[in-house]
Amino acid sequence: MNRPQIKTELPGPKAKEIIERDAKVMSTSLSRDVPLVVERTQDVWIYDVDGNEFLDMTSGVGVTNVGHTNPQVVEAIKNQVEKFLHFAGTDFYYEPQVTLAESLNDIRPFKEQGRVFFTNSGTESVEACIKLARYKTRRPLYIGFLGGFHGRTMGSLSFTSSKVIQRRYFSPMMPQVVHIPFPDTYRPPEGVVPEKVTDFVIWYLNRMFETVAPPEDVAAVLVEPIQGEGGYIVPPKDFFPRLKQELDKHGIYLIVDEVQSGMGRTGKMFAIEHFGVEPDIVSIAKGIASGMPMGACLAKESVMDWEESAHSNTYGGNPVAAVAAIETIKLLKSGLVENAAKIGDYFINQLRELQKKYEVIGDVRGIGLMLAIDFVKDPVKRDYNYELRNKVIQEAFKRGLVCLAAGKSAIRFAPPLTLKEEHVDIAIEILDESIKAALG
Ligand code: PMP
Repeated sequence: MNRPQIKTELPGPKAKEIIERDAKVMSTSLSRDVPLVVERTQDVWIYDVDGNEFLDMTSGVGVTNVGHTNPQVVEAIKNQVEKFLHFAGTDFYYEPQVTLAESLNDIRPFKEQGRVFFTNSGTESVEACIKLARYKTRRPLYIGFLGGFHGRTMGSLSFTSSKVIQRRYFSPMMPQVVHIPFPDTYRPPEGVVPEKVTDFVIWYLNRMFETVAPPEDVAAVLVEPIQGEGGYIVPPKDFFPRLKQELDKHGIYLIVDEVQSGMGRTGKMFAIEHFGVEPDIVSIAKGIASGMPMGACLAKESVMDWEESAHSNTYGGNPVAAVAAIETIKLLKSGLVENAAKIGDYFINQLRELQKKYEVIGDVRGIGLMLAIDFVKDPVKRDYNYELRNKVIQEAFKRGLVCLAAGKSAIRFAPPLTLKEEHVDIAIEILDESIKAALG
């Protein structure tokens, strides 16, 4: 297999022209790390407007899990587009919406029968989840995690805390969200050894219960099974069982945000399945519909029993997005989730080999195809080396590898789950050269 072909300087002439137009009219809030102007995509490959080829480690930020522009998904969309584009699924009926709700039920990460509310994005799924928990419990408070990311609308933003820029000047938000530390074994709180991180977080949770958040007032805990934007941080194995045990004592719901970690990304359909606990409510988006705007709040049927009209929207369950999601789930179930586990193992081992060559790679972490390398200045201090991380992303791009940052100093690898060993080998070769070049 050949390495990606870069034919022009980057950005090329056509890309430059589009980027200049973009700079005049698009919101200044957007943060593009690399000057990639996409023209077409296929499987794990991206082609820009100047004919350059790139290997994708982003999946359009965790979305195209079954491969970019998957022909089976495209075919289903084409067929649906000829029939009807929209007919508010909250006010009327159509089959794709029910079929998709049945498909989601088949893959639910809890035993009880489930129910589904459809949305159009991750943040909107989170809004539905937190509203549902409050509605069902009639309790005012929530607990979220430092470093968590759940979206940018005011409700989900009240939980989001992966970067301060996301919150600065936007207060007041929902005031009833209390944040506690996420169990990070690589950078544990000062004075806490990695083996005791779960103990620390559970102690902190109970301190919250005893002080600012009486547990009988807490509706739910909202948590990512693996923190995404916060830096691909995997909690220790004992964390979720211990957390669930505490929540069950007080009838507090566990909402897991699987927007980035779900839909096969980690080698199981949902990342929470790695940790042996059942959530009560799940937020889903990104990988569910291969790029069509679609999200869902999936909950136990005993939880999602709100009254008619208590929550609703216009576009949720859109038929074109629904047929894309139905095919996406079929594809995930027919081997891609297993492939994510298998190739993920190969990939992480190759990253660990790379780590042996560069002590600036402080940590290699992740599960399945949700992987990251974390750059440090000093491997003992584990201090964040974002300058180097940013340089490596640029160097990799020049060589045809598209990567994104996560957290303060990590590069994330979230490629389509169709990835093969040969692609990993190319990615590692380019990363090796890019780190060398970035170090100068
Ligand atoms: N939750 C998580 C875990 C996410 O990673 C994201 C997006 N990065 C969101 C919610 C928000 O999704 P969206 O951008 O579709 O609103």
